[in-house]
Amino acid sequence: SKEQGRNTYSFFTKQMNEMILRRLEIEEQLYGALERNEFEVYYQPKINLKDRKVMGAEALLRWHNPLVGQVAPDEFIPIAEHTGLIEPIGKYVLAQALAFLNEWSQAHRQDYTMAVNLSPRQFRDQGFVEFVKECLGSCDVTPERLEFEITEGVLMIGQSCVDEVLSALNALGVKLSMDDFGTGYSSLSYLRQYNFDLLKVDRSFVSGITANQEDRDLVTATIAMAHSLHLDVVAEGVETGEQLKLLNELGCDVAQGYYFSKPIPALEMKAFKLKERFE
Ligand code: C2E
Ligand code: CA
Ligand code: CA
Ligand code: CA
Repeated sequence: SKEQGRNTYSFFTKQMNEMILRRLEIEEQLYGALERNEFEVYYQPKINLKDRKVMGAEALLRWHNPLVGQVAPDEFIPIAEHTGLIEPIGKYVLAQALAFLNEWSQAHRQDYTMAVNLSPRQFRDQGFVEFVKECLGSCDVTPERLEFEITEGVLMIGQSCVDEVLSALNALGVKLSMDDFGTGYSSLSYLRQYNFDLLKVDRSFVSGITANQEDRDLVTATIAMAHSLHLDVVAEGVETGEQLKLLNELGCDVAQGYYFSKPIPALEMKAFKLKERFE
């Protein structure tokens, strides 16, 4: 009926209004977030399956804002990207992560590695490569201990600056990691075109490997392909011992996921130890 139609209509407008208002509020709050010191970099350990030790971590950004409450990176990173705020925020993450890497490594007398996510907009930031160089210098970190995780979305946009920035990063000696491998259509051609060092198998495949033969076959093939291209394979989103055992049997090099630890604040990462029972 007409009445019903009107109710449905106002229901959707109300929901849409709320969504738009929240999006606007997030954007507004995001502008002052760096100055108000609302960001915190969390770390998730990466485990080398060859020696079963922590080899490094991935830096993952968290935002604490009293007005908008908890906002996940999947929600605020795209807005930061859209507004260009990702440029200063990305630099902040890098500086924090490298300073922590130095502190953490010294405390444990280990040469840990640090992975930092890059989004497309950061490739347009003229001073980015220079900033990377400065940060490495001031944090006393050798370039090969820094990895940039890049999804195929970064490469797909076809920005002319991408080639330039990736070659400059290669020349610096930092590592490049293909993130979320298997979720896009063109990852393979990008692996051929650019000089990647690592490949991260997407969580959606890892979660299927113990139950689903097709996922297992895909991961097996991905590992073989990566190794033939001299890439190390990182499995993300490892949640169970069963998954871990299988990945190990398939020759995966590095694992990361809730099975070992969720992303945690710097202080916790510094004190983090692997569970004894890890086989
Ligand atoms: P990503 O780079 O694919 O990061 C992996 C995501 O999976 C993280 O979500 C992590 O917390 C989550 N995760 C790790 N292990 C497990 C697991 O065992 N099970 C499950 N269910 N999830 C797991 P998070 O921290 O919410 O980040 C989401 C996305 O936001 C990241 O995806 C990345 O694309 C982006 N992001 C986060 N921090 C940054 C940053 O500093 N810069 C940029 N450009 N993007 C970032
Ligand atoms: Ca990542
Ligand atoms: Ca990923
Ligand atoms: Ca992802």
